[in-house]
Amino acid sequence: MLQAINRLQASRDLLDHAPKAVSRQGSIDLRNVQKVYPNGYVATEDVTLHIPGGSFFTLLGPSGCGKTTLLRIIAGFEEPSAGGVLISGRSIIGVPAYRRPVNTVFQSYVLFPHLNVYQNVEFGLRMRHMKATQRKHKVTDMLDSMQLGTLAKHFPNQLSGGQKQRVALARALVNEPELLLLDEPLSALDAKLRRELQVELLRLQKSIGTTFLFVTHDQQEAMIMSDQIGIMQQGRLQQVGKVHEVYERPKNIFVARFLGLPNIIRRESLTHTPTLPSAIRHITVHPERITFSHGAGHAAANILNGVVRERLYMGAHTDYVVAVENFPDLLVSDSSPNHRSRETGSGVRLVIQASDIVPLEG
Ligand code: ADP
Ligand code: MG
Repeated sequence: MLQAINRLQASRDLLDHAPKAVSRQGSIDLRNVQKVYPNGYVATEDVTLHIPGGSFFTLLGPSGCGKTTLLRIIAGFEEPSAGGVLISGRSIIGVPAYRRPVNTVFQSYVLFPHLNVYQNVEFGLRMRHMKATQRKHKVTDMLDSMQLGTLAKHFPNQLSGGQKQRVALARALVNEPELLLLDEPLSALDAKLRRELQVELLRLQKSIGTTFLFVTHDQQEAMIMSDQIGIMQQGRLQQVGKVHEVYERPKNIFVARFLGLPNIIRRESLTHTPTLPSAIRHITVHPERITFSHGAGHAAANILNGVVRERLYMGAHTDYVVAVENFPDLLVSDSSPNHRSRETGSGVRLVIQASDIVPLEG
């Protein structure tokens, strides 16, 4: 999985070299936002967050943690019970949804069934009374850039799921919002199509420079696509940062688990932990940071003796499940030239550098 993420992140890096204006246009500021629903349920609590204009930001968290609630507050479908919301530096509390510089794309496609693709995309421009010639120009351009030109006369029931979602995106983007909110827009699609649309969406965001606030419960999708991610649990933001920062330095056990990091270990299982704060009870070490020892000479490292329980050949690397003292299933990911060579049942020595130990709160 890590390899796939690295590959996609590498293609992201290419896209990142495109000139990018840093601006307040399309920025979002949430200040101590709280939402208590009328039945007393506290859906978000004290959420403070700054999203730079022009960036791709993902809210990641399990179902029910308050992601949609936050999007609805930004879009204007809900008012916060307390706190402030600014778009492009201006407070939008009390501004009705239709007057906010925001468009939303939902998981279910909600296209107008009686309008064809062209008319669906044109709809918002008609509502704004844009002149016919300008409208035609904008819709045609948008259909072309979303590779929908040949489908202009098709009706929604003649489209595949991926095509429908592209129309929904085109329909939102043709209005040139400062901010696009995307609420799990790909989760109804199969894996292959989903991957294609992830790449397409990313490319689109980089080329138009509109702020994308994307919501997903899929950590891999979040890592592939985002400039920054915010990880939510039970109505609170647990950690916000660039993708690699959060992956490399998860703040607490929840974040580490949610990102799929396997080695969450009690601190006392390791002997050499000089840099850790004393209050820490749990730590994690990324599987690709643990190495097999080839002899002595690891004064500043932890040496663990163990037995290979499982060997999982992944092509470019091999994952080993190793039983060590106090921890029966340490995952070690080996991508060195002879990575396949260790047999199940064989004894191994593992090296963990002190600097690769990540302390976890909670
Ligand atoms: P997510 O999008 O992360 O799955 P939501 O923001 O939709 O989460 O919901 C957060 C919590 O708020 C859930 O427990 C949900 O049941 C609750 N909730 C959502 N809408 C309402 C509502 N209108 N009234 C009461 N509770 C709600
Ligand atoms: Mg939701």
